[in-house]
Formats: sequence, structure tokens, C-alpha cells
Amino acid sequence: MQQHLFTPGPVNVPYEVRQAGAAPMVSHRSEPWFCLLEEITNRLKRLLGVMEPVILIPGSGTGALESLAVNLISPGDEVISFSCGVFGERFREIASRTGAKMIPVDIPRGQGFTGEDVLAALAKHSGAKAVLFTHNETSTGVVNPLEEMASAIPEGGPLILVDAVSSLGAMPCLPSEWRLDGLASCSQKGLLAPPGVAPVWISERAWEAAKTHRCPSYYFDLALHRKYLEKKRPQNPFTPPVSLYYSLAASLRILEECSWEKRFADIARMARTFESACEAMGFELFVRDARFRSPALTSVVMPSGGGELIKQVLEELGVMVAEGQGGENSTLRFAHYSPGGWPEASLLAGSLFGATAKCGLDMCSGFIEEAWKTWNREVC
Ligand code: PLP
Repeated sequence: MQQHLFTPGPVNVPYEVRQAGAAPMVSHRSEPWFCLLEEITNRLKRLLGVMEPVILIPGSGTGALESLAVNLISPGDEVISFSCGVFGERFREIASRTGAKMIPVDIPRGQGFTGEDVLAALAKHSGAKAVLFTHNETSTGVVNPLEEMASAIPEGGPLILVDAVSSLGAMPCLPSEWRLDGLASCSQKGLLAPPGVAPVWISERAWEAAKTHRCPSYYFDLALHRKYLEKKRPQNPFTPPVSLYYSLAASLRILEECSWEKRFADIARMARTFESACEAMGFELFVRDARFRSPALTSVVMPSGGGELIKQVLEELGVMVAEGQGGENSTLRFAHYSPGGWPEASLLAGSLFGATAKCGLDMCSGFIEEAWKTWNREVC
């Protein structure tokens, strides 16, 4: 049976992207490789709207986050860590292992931050060296207003380091325009490629800061990666996962040629359509305030204890979703990264309805009409 991945990574990877990964190996010290690397980094620079290099770290999003920490945070630094879920906490833990002093700012699960929260924290800790933000908190389905949060930090203030693991390629993310200093992401969500290559970008100001910092990691040393990228022909310092780069290049080609704006609009349309279907069925969305609802994934509150069984029935139907990480609440998370249109939106909503019916729940069957109305209202 075909599996439909509505998990927040890995996602359904298009056939051409999978095929690209099956190409014969090339030497990573040869012209075809240099061209491929150049193509990927240029496409990512255009996506991010940046001039500085985009470094590709072999590994997952966690490796990208770790590279920001070990290159830009020193023992004893004060770091304000904003967290609204599991991944905010993880970034904090990664950063704390550098020996920096973490100042935690936490809000309840399901809520997002505002610029005012950032201003209030800065007023109390004006000497902070860095702040940690999560753009899209995948554990709860909250998207934080990154531009607004960053604009609360004065010029020359703490470095703004961002977990963009589940946002890049799924929604606008413009680090230079928004005055960010470090961004870490992955290949297996918004970028629609297999897991294993993690883009990292840092600002000119952050490169300056990195110069006076001794990076304790060799593999994640961004200056070493940049040195190789800026050789006469761009290269990796170490052997890269060649096949994964081929796949990533293919997905970026497809997405850019189709236009990123279209991709962002398609994803948001899926999310809004699915949200309206869930509400029409009678479900409660975990993120109450619509301003903070992520386009990339929807967290739905399940009847107490029912989430596990509903997920299992969905799996039997061939629909893969993720269990929730919403703290006390029982939630399921439905991601919208995989390419699709109305057939996929109705497949997901219809499967959820079928699974709940099989579990003995009496949800409202008029949901498909509501979903169709929203789908048409949200025309891309
Ligand atoms: N940060 C966020 C926001 C995530 O969603 C994830 C994974 O889902 C991670 C970090 C960790 O990324 P990875 O599993 O690719 O290491």
C-alpha cells in the first residue's frame, strides 16, 4: 500500500528528486561536483535573499543548530533562549553545552512570542551575547513572528540565532532583511529532499564574531567550511553525502523554477483548508490564536487518550501523521510540506474522519463542504 507522508519530515519526495539521488558517484574534487555545489548554494542564497555563503553541513537539522552554537557562543556568555516547545528547549540544551549561561524565557505550549516579549527580556538582560529563537515550533504547530521578534533587538545588540529547521522552504524566511545573524535548517522538510544535508547561514556580523572565537568542533567549524567553499572552485572540506546533494539540487531546481511564492501559498492553502475541515468536524486546534498557526503543520487536539488509536488507524489506511508534543494535551500533528492540491487536502481530512469513525467517535460529516469553501477562498 502506498504511504502518504503527512509527518513533519521526512516528507513525500518527488520522483525526479529520488531519481536524481541514484546518479553515479562523482569525485568531490572534480568539476561536476564544484558545479553542483555552486548551483545548490546559489539557489539557497536566492531563497534566503542573502549575499553571504550558505554552508551545507552533512547531517540533520540538529547538526546545523549545533554548528551555530559552537561557532558563535562561548563559555560564560549570557544567552536568552526563547522557547515555546520541545525544539526551543532542544536549541537551549545544545547552546548550554558550550558552557554559556542560559536565560530561559518560556511560554505555555500552543502560544507564540511577540516583539514585546523580546523587549521585556532584553530590558532585564541587556548584556546578553545572543538570543535563540525558533521560527516554526514543530512540536506544537506554532509559527513565531520572526521579523517582529528580531526588530525588537537594537542594532549591534545580541546575535539573533534562529532555528529554521521546519520553516525554510515552507514559508518566507529572509534573514538579511529581518536582520538575523544565524539560521539553521535541514533538507527533509520545506526543501522537499531526503534528510542528511543541513543548510547554515550566518551574517557578516556573525562571521566577524566567529573570527575571535575558538570553535571547539572541527567538523562543524564554519570558517573551515567557508574556506573550502571560497576556493577557486567551491568544495566541501570533507567527503560529502554525494547522492543527497544530487537530490537536494533536483528539489531546489523544481521548487525555484515553479517559484517559491507559489510553494508558500500552496502550503498555506493546504493548512487553512485542513484547519477548517478539522474545526467543522468538531475538533479543537491546539494553537488557539490564528496569528500563530503554522502553515507548515497543524496540531489537532484529540479526545483524551484517543490520539494513539486514531494515529494507528490512519497508519492502517496508509496515512502517516505524527503524535503530538503538546505537553498535557493529546494532539496529533499533520504536516503540509508534501506537494499536493485539493486531492491531498481532501484525502487527509477524509482519512481523519474515517479514522475517528472507526474509533467510535461521532464527528460532524459536513467538514468536506467547509474545506472546499476554504480551499476556494484561499486561491493561490
Ligand atoms: N528544530 C525543529 C524546529 C525541528 O522541527 C526539528 C525536527 O523536527 C529539529 C530542530 C531537529 O531536526 P533533525 O531531526 O533534522 O535533527
